[in-house]
Parts: sequence; structure tokens; C-alpha cells
Amino acid sequence: MRDLLGEALRQSGAWGSWPEPIVVDAVDSTMRTMTTLAHDGAVEGQVVVARSQTAGRGRHGRTWVSALDQGVWLSILMRPTVPATTASTLPLVVGLAVADALGREWGLDVRLKWPNDVVVATIEGDSANTDWTKLAGVLAERIDDGGIIIGVGINVSQRRTDLPSGATSLVTYARKFSPAKPVDESPVSLIVRTAAAVLVEVSSAYRHWVSGAWMIDRYRQQCVTIGRKVQVEHIAMSQVRNERIQSAGTFTAVDVDAAGHLMVRDDCGAVHAVTAGDVTLTPSCPPGDAR
Ligand code: ATP
Repeated sequence: MRDLLGEALRQSGAWGSWPEPIVVDAVDSTMRTMTTLAHDGAVEGQVVVARSQTAGRGRHGRTWVSALDQGVWLSILMRPTVPATTASTLPLVVGLAVADALGREWGLDVRLKWPNDVVVATIEGDSANTDWTKLAGVLAERIDDGGIIIGVGINVSQRRTDLPSGATSLVTYARKFSPAKPVDESPVSLIVRTAAAVLVEVSSAYRHWVSGAWMIDRYRQQCVTIGRKVQVEHIAMSQVRNERIQSAGTFTAVDVDAAGHLMVRDDCGAVHAVTAGDVTLTPSCPPGDAR
């Protein structure tokens, strides 16, 4: 797999001076492997791809299911020198790049649930009621030397029953919703093709972002959370209008600001910024009742 992935990245012509990815058969977690490599002096752009993870993790230490040769499980080391206000958008930059790459490579309409769950529609409907299921997730962790490790997990060929509820894989979804495009490549070929497309897009978006040219607008367009009623938990609200809200609750998501915070409106009409937290889409109000 290492040779195939290295070749695909070289052929893209867009990988630039970033090093060739390290490909390993099995690790506990690519985040942990990359942390060790970073402490040992790994340079920006180093990627670790694992064929399987025994203890893959998502946000807040949650488990990320990462079966052998059924998905893209990787971590990337970044060492951006950008202001703190800009740094907070990096997970969104990577999430959007992953969604863009998957959408293009697989011919699917791939979107984002704030902050960076990469999702596809399972039930078509008006935008306030569409149901979304998770194809991929993105995780960002700062390490003590100031670097940031980005984790990306993409489900490629699992069956629905091998995944947690609310998740799907590219093959399963494409078979159901785009049957005109048969998916008959080998699992490894699918993984290499998908990983290469995503890595090229992430590296290009990252360079764009570091140069200061990345704008939040396209993220907003692709974010399915905006306009929806949301349940917010483990809340961490920033101060807006000198208020600090600590309790979880139901809000209407109205925007994502330039720093990447989710702007939500409460029942009294006050708008607050969610800087971190768990946000669940809830069934929408009848038309005309949305705030
Ligand atoms: P949520 O997806 O519930 O909004 P989150 O964004 O915090 O939560 P992550 O941290 O990205 O989620 O991922 C962890 C969660 O994703 C787990 O709690 C589990 O429910 C789900 N999960 C685990 N493995 C997979 C997978 N391979 N594909 C999709 N979802 C997964």
C-alpha cells in the first residue's frame, strides 16, 4: 500500500515537498503514533496511514471503529504559524477538504455537520428535514511543541451492520444511492485512491489557509447544521452580548462565524457562539415556526 499511495501522490503533482506517508499494518491509534513521531522530530506534512487501528479514537476520547483494509485511517502533522483566531478554523478547513475530495472522487454530495463530521444524506427532503449519516470524521489535537495533529477516519467498504448507528461507508452508500456507478475495485485500491484524493486536497487547502486566503464561506455553504434546530451538550459558550450560558439545550443554528464557532439562537432570540461541544440535529419545527 505504501508504494501505491506514494506513487498516487507523486502523480498528482500537488503533494509538494511534504514527505512520503508512512504506512503501517496495525497501530493502537495513528494519533498516538504521530505524537511519538512528532516528539522525535517529524516534519510538517508527515502522514501516518494505518491499515487498521485497535484503539482508534474520535473527539473526547470516543472510540473510532477502524477495521483492517476497510477505511482510510490516518493522522497528519501540521506546524502552522498563524494567529490563534485563525488556528481555531483548522479542523473546519480539513473537514471541508475531506468532504470536497470525497465528493469529487466518488461523485457524491458530501457535506459537513458542524464542526467536522463528514456526512451524506440518507433521506432526501427539504434542507430542514434531511437526515444525514456519517462517512468520515476529523479530529484535531494540539501537542506540547505547538504542532497540531489532525486525524482523519473515512469509512470505505464496511457493511452498515459493521458500523455504529448513524454511520455508513462510501461503498455501501454508493451502492444504494448511486447504483449506476458500480464499485468493483479491490478494497486496497479503493483505500489508496480515496486516501490520495483526500491527502492532496487537504495539503492544498492547508497551504491556502496558511497563506491567509482560506475563507469560511464555502464551509458555510456545505454545513448542514446551519438552519437546523440543534441540541447542544457539554456546552462551552463564548461570551456574546456579555452572557455566558453553561446549560445544554435546544437552539436554532444560524451561522458559523469567521473563527469557526457555531452561532445558535435561543428561544428568547439571543445569539450565542458555541466554541466546543456536542451538537445533534433535531427534527425541525413545522415550516414558519423556525427561528
Ligand atoms: P457525533 O458523530 O455523535 O456527532 P463526534 O463528532 O464527537 O460525535 P467523533 O469524535 O468524530 O464524533 O467520533 C466518535 C463517534 O463516532 C463515536 O462515539 C461513534 O459513535 C462514532 N463512530 C465510531 N466509529 C465510527 C466510524 N468508523 N464511522 C462513523 N462513526 C463512527
